[in-house]
Amino acid sequence: EAIYKRIAAGEVVVNPASVVKELVENSMDAEATAITIEIAQGGKELIRVTDNGVGIIAEDVPLAVQKHATSKIRSLSDLEQIETLGFRGEALSSMAAVSRLTIKTRPHDSVEGTILSVSGEHRPEVSSAGLAEGTTVRVENLFYNIPARMKFLKNTARETVNVTSVVSRLIFANPHIAIKYINNGKVIYHSPGNGSLKDAVIAVYGKDISHRLIDLEYPGEIAIHGLISRPDFLYKGTNHICFFLNSRYIQSRNLQAAVLRGYGERLLRGHFPFSVLHVTLPPDRADVNVHPGKLQVMLYDEADVLSAAEHAVRAALEEDSK
Ligand code: ADP
Ligand code: MG
Repeated sequence: EAIYKRIAAGEVVVNPASVVKELVENSMDAEATAITIEIAQGGKELIRVTDNGVGIIAEDVPLAVQKHATSKIRSLSDLEQIETLGFRGEALSSMAAVSRLTIKTRPHDSVEGTILSVSGEHRPEVSSAGLAEGTTVRVENLFYNIPARMKFLKNTARETVNVTSVVSRLIFANPHIAIKYINNGKVIYHSPGNGSLKDAVIAVYGKDISHRLIDLEYPGEIAIHGLISRPDFLYKGTNHICFFLNSRYIQSRNLQAAVLRGYGERLLRGHFPFSVLHVTLPPDRADVNVHPGKLQVMLYDEADVLSAAEHAVRAALEEDSK
């Protein structure tokens, strides 16, 4: 059983970046409006995510680290959404199996909070304490008990880059949540959480980018909104184009090609625009129900989405050059 648990952990916990993504998504599910992400040594030594969400009541804390324990399936109709939203009750149990995990949590209407510590095969230790409202999850020494997995981790610089790109996508996907990102004690990003995508982008790219951006609004059943760069502001060789489908980060070569077609002759060879685009589709026209770790999605009527993206970009550029 113990070994099975450790192997199964490979599903959602593959590296520090995947731990960060799962923890932040839990904080968002808990309706947090402010989330702090801290890492040390690329997350290999420490990952800590603190939120001001609803917290976990004392008696449920031990359940949270059990396999397939999810509080997010309340009714039969929810069942259809589980896979889609990734509620599989696997993240915390997987982390508990392959790291030293500590949860500190207090719901706003509880006088005391709960602290749970667990590592590997040891039984969880639970105590109560006065804590701030919300939840902090700390993951230390990832894969300390699985040398083969530990060896598979990249060097600190590389793991840091991976975490940083996950965090920047989470910031772009959630402009209404204040997200602070700290690496080795230094604040790297701090988005204000005021709902403005532009302010979220500034938190990651810096203030100078703001006057190089064009707002893009394309309403309709296939709605697209976001920011693209003016054609005189391009990145050479590196790709700064990203997409969110119904607020989830996705990868799509076809969508990227559509954006580039929208720029058309305006693009210099080998250069890429900056672009953060949110595509909103009726949920039944987007199938994100692939593997939770995969970022590719199937779009029904993909051709319609691609032509919407191309037209939206072209129209925004034409409007701006008037
Ligand atoms: P899932 O998110 O699929 O339900 P997880 O293993 O990620 O499974 O989390 C297990 C459970 O722990 C969640 O269903 C939720 O009840 C609780 N939980 C985890 N993180 C938080 C958090 N930050 N705030 C409140 N509850 C949380
Ligand atoms: Mg989760």
